[in-house]
Amino acid sequence: MGNKKSLATLCVQAGWEPKNGEPRVVPIYQSTTFKYDNTEEMADLFDLKKSGYFYTRLQNPTNDAVASKIAALEGGVGAVLTSSGQAASFYSVFNICEAGDHIVVSTEIYGGTYNLFGVTLKKLGIECTFVNQDASEEEIGAAFRPNTKLLFGETISNPGCRVLDIEKFARIAHNHGVPLVIDNTFPTPINCRPFEWGADIVIHSTTKYMDGHATQVGGCVVDSGNFDWEAHADKFPMLTTPDESYHGLTYTKAFGKMAYITKLVAQLMRDLGSIPSPHNAFLLNIGLETLHLRVPRHCENARRVAEFLRADERVAWVNYSDLPSDPQHDLQQKYLPNGSCGVIAFGLKGDRATAVRFMDSLKLVTIVTHVADVRSCVLHPASHTHRQLSDDQLREAGIAPDLIRFSVGVEDVNDILADVSHALDSI
Ligand code: PLP
Repeated sequence: MGNKKSLATLCVQAGWEPKNGEPRVVPIYQSTTFKYDNTEEMADLFDLKKSGYFYTRLQNPTNDAVASKIAALEGGVGAVLTSSGQAASFYSVFNICEAGDHIVVSTEIYGGTYNLFGVTLKKLGIECTFVNQDASEEEIGAAFRPNTKLLFGETISNPGCRVLDIEKFARIAHNHGVPLVIDNTFPTPINCRPFEWGADIVIHSTTKYMDGHATQVGGCVVDSGNFDWEAHADKFPMLTTPDESYHGLTYTKAFGKMAYITKLVAQLMRDLGSIPSPHNAFLLNIGLETLHLRVPRHCENARRVAEFLRADERVAWVNYSDLPSDPQHDLQQKYLPNGSCGVIAFGLKGDRATAVRFMDSLKLVTIVTHVADVRSCVLHPASHTHRQLSDDQLREAGIAPDLIRFSVGVEDVNDILADVSHALDSI
């Protein structure tokens, strides 16, 4: 199915086109292995001479059907599902970086990614420089080194809800001969398609809106196919020179626009694993089938909640770029004209204890370590997801100690507002 179909149709139908008599719904191929009639056929698969399935650690038909739906939604040439969003972030980098390399990353990213890039990658010999995404192109450019291999940012940051100027980031990356990798988890392709603004690779935590029902942890890496690896061959020898672990095959020569994704599957999945269970991919697909219906409703409800919070004198501040009074509204209008997402960041007047009293008084809205679910939920990052960060690191990542992350669900908004109102009366 081509990219000419509308996003709504792609959500429902892309990725699985049954032939005569085949199941209408993508089946769960819950099998580790695939059978062949003779030795040579299987050998050709191992040599990447033919495409086909042989072992689910590398590829599985259910996973591939769902990955190609996400590739179609993002407008990419190929995609691979991973067992978590964290694995997707890691692979997006590790596919083109090795010990001795360096990456430049916005500070406004998910705490888990901040830790992965700032601490764990360092142990593998990959250095990371964090930059303020609102700084000038010159300032951000100054962070680049000869060994820098990519620039990374989030379309809408978790939990600060800051909107990234994707075109600016793409320009900076390309001026330095490296790809721009974007985490597009919060808006999903329904509200923003970063490839249309110059991004080269997109990753997702599919655990969030794509699934939407909090039933599976998963991730996805999508390639636009647009970055010219050969034009920067000296920077990316892992794609442009022979891979000894694949009989001297050169990914860019053998696979063209599919080089990055093919290497990720053939090498990283082979050596490191991190594929999702086909059953989880099946659950994810059910979520994707209604993504285009859920996302607008999340945004509509969140706008009402953000307006309500902003009008209340007990609320100190609200970050929700869809509000016309929000300082980021112009950026939101450019990149997310149909709405950002259902997540709001706000702070109450008072201290940390005030935030805790508010959260503990909510009844319909629950406290969970999750976001982007059909059920409304809240989290206090300073006490929960980001508790490993120091106060300085929190501030650097744009997270105030009083920040409450409110993920507005798709319940009746009047019931959500009644719960918020009651909790505010209890602080
Ligand atoms: N990226 C973003 C924006 C996230 O919000 C998260 C998780 O909250 C991740 C990546 C990591 O995804 P996962 O929890 O699926 O590993």
